[in-house]
Amino acid sequence: MLKANDPGLHSWIEIAADSDFPIQNLPFGIFTTPDRDPRVGVAIGEYILDLCVVAQHNMFELIDLDPNVFHRPYLNEFIALGKPIWRAVRNRVSELLRNHNEEISGNSDLIRECLVEQYKAQMLIPVQVPNYTDFYSSIEHATNVGTMFRDPANALSPNWKHLPVGYHGRASSIVVSGTNIHRPKGQTKAPQADAPAFGSCRQLDFELEVAFITGRETALGQSITPDQADDYIFGLVLFNDWSARDIQTWEYVPLGPFLAKSFGSSISPWVVTLDALEPFKVKGPEQDPRPLSYLEFTGNHHYDINLEVLLQPAGGRANCISRSNYKYMYWNMNQQLAHQSSNGCNIQVGDVYASGTISGSTRESYGSMLELTWGGTQPITLPDGTQRRFINDHDTIIMRGYAGRNGTRIGFGEVRTKILPAI
Ligand code: MN
Repeated sequence: MLKANDPGLHSWIEIAADSDFPIQNLPFGIFTTPDRDPRVGVAIGEYILDLCVVAQHNMFELIDLDPNVFHRPYLNEFIALGKPIWRAVRNRVSELLRNHNEEISGNSDLIRECLVEQYKAQMLIPVQVPNYTDFYSSIEHATNVGTMFRDPANALSPNWKHLPVGYHGRASSIVVSGTNIHRPKGQTKAPQADAPAFGSCRQLDFELEVAFITGRETALGQSITPDQADDYIFGLVLFNDWSARDIQTWEYVPLGPFLAKSFGSSISPWVVTLDALEPFKVKGPEQDPRPLSYLEFTGNHHYDINLEVLLQPAGGRANCISRSNYKYMYWNMNQQLAHQSSNGCNIQVGDVYASGTISGSTRESYGSMLELTWGGTQPITLPDGTQRRFINDHDTIIMRGYAGRNGTRIGFGEVRTKILPAI
């Protein structure tokens, strides 16, 4: 029997070669249509397989689960069942969709019942998010920001290579792709101004990130190692950490990001499992100095995932303004989760842990406007002739990602957000 991520697998569903969702991917999400209330689905080509219907037809009967677990508005209850169950469901879905399997494909009524065209469905936020942490784990990003705001000679703070720096973000304002965000308001102080003022943000920025979602909890006081982290991580989504740079500059000392970040963060709707990404694991950078033993790991925990950011002006075309890769991270997600739990802080099901802005070493690969325009000093010129230092009202930011090799493409779809004027 071929494994679910074997490149030789084919489905009885016709899938375009450049689809993000071949049979090797099978990401999980929550969708609804006018006649289907929110439920769990799996993306396959241009369709969604309705797991609620699949379960009603007893096709998961060999797996130890309550079929109603798919008839839920969030993935939390399903992923709380644990990795052996996620894996068994993924393998069973793979089997049902393979080209010689007729359990669904042999019955045209059942096909109509089980498959929903993606364009007819609305994707909802995949998990109810109890906690959100944002790390700062790209050395290029941290160096760029440190060069601009601190000291070019000592761009990295002294702790940076010893621990994955992070902060606790706001879970309530994480929204799914397609949700518009209003420009935030806040307190700012221009360098030459005598006093601060309150008003609309003038330096609205995106941050290109990837986030992992946990599917297993720890007890308060318990810690896990980087190697144990694999059993806690359900999958990955694209993450846009919206940032108000002018608010951030004034408010962040001495406790770090607050209202400059908490007005909204956007995620992609499909959670791509670590199992689907297994063939795209790569070695990370040499960590020198060697991290303390609680951050030591075995194996590879970096993933080769191509990322891009597109800016679409109102009524205009989407233009690619950055190309980066998740493999550029210095700290990997297993180290991030081990560090998060190292003080005994409890991990919960549905927690979102974002990577931090993922920048590469060249200008074209920077993951924020702050870096792409170097603090707004070198504006980007779009093909329509307009310039951007930061993000304008009515601009749409689109982030896409995929891992690809030898004809197999494991895609994330996209996270798309339009910025509306401040209320
Ligand atoms: Mn961030």
